[in-house]
Amino acid sequence: MNTDTPTLVFPDDISRAATLIQAGECVAIKTETVYGLAADATNERAIAKIFEAKARPASNPLIVHIASAADMAKWAKDIPDIAFELANAFWPGPLSILLKKQYWVLDAVTGGQDTVVLRCPASKDFISLIQASGTGLAAPSANRYKFISPTTAAHVLTSLNGRIAAVVDGGSAEVGIESTIIDVTQDVPTILRPGPIDDVMLERALGRKVRYAANLGITVPGSAKQHYQPDTPVFLLSTEELERRGLRSNEGVISYSQPRLAGHLDDDCHIQLSDNASEYSAQFYAALHQLDKLALSCIYLESTPTSTPWIAINNRIGRVVAG
Ligand code: AMP
Ligand code: MG
Repeated sequence: MNTDTPTLVFPDDISRAATLIQAGECVAIKTETVYGLAADATNERAIAKIFEAKARPASNPLIVHIASAADMAKWAKDIPDIAFELANAFWPGPLSILLKKQYWVLDAVTGGQDTVVLRCPASKDFISLIQASGTGLAAPSANRYKFISPTTAAHVLTSLNGRIAAVVDGGSAEVGIESTIIDVTQDVPTILRPGPIDDVMLERALGRKVRYAANLGITVPGSAKQHYQPDTPVFLLSTEELERRGLRSNEGVISYSQPRLAGHLDDDCHIQLSDNASEYSAQFYAALHQLDKLALSCIYLESTPTSTPWIAINNRIGRVVAG
């Protein structure tokens, strides 16, 4: 669907957005993580439009967004207590929970699996849209498949203008990276995708051990290694390598410490982010979008610390770098 009709952009008119959702359209809207491309998760044609707009492979399942934990049982069955404990501790918020699905949940949403992933997002507008639409909303990031996730309405338009009905412009997404996904159908709760809620936070809330799927060699559908790439090639360098190398003209850099960079220093090409992991997350995709517009020969990323708060960022960096 590449139409000549440009995508509508409007601020928080939720009833207008809900009318489009009920008509089976896709609407991009801010969640606290990134902008999501929302559509009625019970409408097969609407779901097909998400895959078409994003050029996303059909085997890559979608997260269903619900207005509260009370709606979990509509979508999932055999829900273990731990799912309610997690919902209590972290919803609304950036935690997605994998559960056994109800028989009627569309294969197009689950990638044909017998599980469904649910999340209650901490974005007032998004919750209002779920309520006004009267259904759960599938909402993957509002970007073309394998491109950088959008954290502003303008980012959404760079890859989806003309391919989706509308964008509700709610300013910048506060958290800035995608939700943590946890599988609670296993004996040991298993983090399928690291995100803003890390293992330490989960273990503290649950009073028991959780584990990372990546440490078990388990691969998860839709976690293709290169997943979040800008058009400009991105390379990862340690602080020392970056300082030794310096910068040539037409090269960009995103740093978190304050490296001493010799060479061609154009302020527009150097984005200095925070050395606090949450603040870094909030700014990371926007920095990539900003440098990607400059048609540089490459972008260097200063490698970030390996401590727990940086696990999710390092996961995203691993998917952004070339090679
Ligand atoms: P997003 O693209 O951020 O909406 O996240 C979707 C990701 O959630 C997919 O790429 C999968 O990794 C994961 N996911 C969603 N539903 C399922 C499911 N039923 N089983 C396994 N993983 C899932
Ligand atoms: Mg995505």
